[in-house]
Amino acid sequence: MTTSTPALAVTQANGSFETISLERRDLRDDDILIDIKFAGICHSDIHTVRQEWGDITFPITPGHEIAGIVAAVGDGVTKYKVGDRVGVGCMVDSCGECENCKNDHEQFCTKPAVFTYNSLNYDGERAQGGYSQQIVVTERFACRIPDSLELDVAAPLLCAGITTYSPLTRWGARPGTKVGIVGVGGLGHLGVRIASAMGAQVYGISRSMAKAEDSEKLGAAGHIASSDKDAFAAHKRSFDIILNTVSADLPMNDYMRLLKPFGVMVNVGLPSGGYELSPRSFGGNTAMAGSMIGGIAETQEMLDFCAEHGIGATIETIAAADVDAAYERVVAGDVRYRVVIDTATIGANA
Ligand code: NAP
Ligand code: ZN
Repeated sequence: MTTSTPALAVTQANGSFETISLERRDLRDDDILIDIKFAGICHSDIHTVRQEWGDITFPITPGHEIAGIVAAVGDGVTKYKVGDRVGVGCMVDSCGECENCKNDHEQFCTKPAVFTYNSLNYDGERAQGGYSQQIVVTERFACRIPDSLELDVAAPLLCAGITTYSPLTRWGARPGTKVGIVGVGGLGHLGVRIASAMGAQVYGISRSMAKAEDSEKLGAAGHIASSDKDAFAAHKRSFDIILNTVSADLPMNDYMRLLKPFGVMVNVGLPSGGYELSPRSFGGNTAMAGSMIGGIAETQEMLDFCAEHGIGATIETIAAADVDAAYERVVAGDVRYRVVIDTATIGANA
């Protein structure tokens, strides 16, 4: 006997979201059932559903920014009890035994990890994501949401928060460093807040000055428009860390020139194409690095850090019927700064 739960799914290529019923597996010993309250819309959901990263299997229920309440626990569960406030991000299982899992980098599990959607569970069942009212995950893949964070503003932390927190920690954002966040969107606005809370001097780097006031409210020392050549010249060779969160192609060489000697450009944006990069961009002993989400222990650390610093996402909450329109708005750059689905509205008019 599985549990049926209302969900949103795209059932065919180029289709719109429809309400369907998903079957969630019976609880295994180490599983928890979560009543999902809010699910964020990440640009990765859009890249995936629109097959910008390659063909996928339909129907698909995306969503990997999940916040909710534990509704039931398996017999062997020790970490959570019914009523606990939890979040689930981009992964729902991993082998737990390979070197990467043992080092708390489950996202690089060699088996590999089971991602929250567009992935197969180890029993062969297709994993389906958070645009739904309930989900079952192994307890290892849930994180505790601190009481001081509301569930709606916490949901986006489970992907956008960890994806920015992890590289900022790894590359040493702290007092005395200058950090640029390219693209002030879902990831970027949290990057500005988190890097500022780490004590760095932060600049939002956007297509225009339209988000300048917001950047400063999020904690930035200033804001730079990529269209402003004079501003780029004024900030030349001054950044220790630049985090690129842009979902589209960028003239990367122009941004590399903003790095100090030994500075690092960390790329987390995942447009479908490549970047043009000149070998001369590395003349200052600069580095280019990547970063993919973060492990579970680090995700918990990020949630605790955000609670301590009062950091939640800046959100617009929408009903299930508005998800197709929200996708268009995200792509058009018309969202400040994360859309979150109130999952209670799924199936409300069905
Ligand atoms: P988003 O909310 O749409 O934000 C992207 C931002 O990029 C926009 O707000 C905009 O900022 C800028 N931008 C958009 N189109 C642009 C263009 N044509 N030229 C220049 N700038 C443009 O997206 P998101 O959810 O933050 O995700 C960003 C990217 O990160 C996506 O590609 C996503 O797949 C990827 N991602 C990666 C990971 C990972 O683990 N590596 C995890 C999650 C997401 P301005 O208005 O400030 O210019
Ligand atoms: Zn994401």
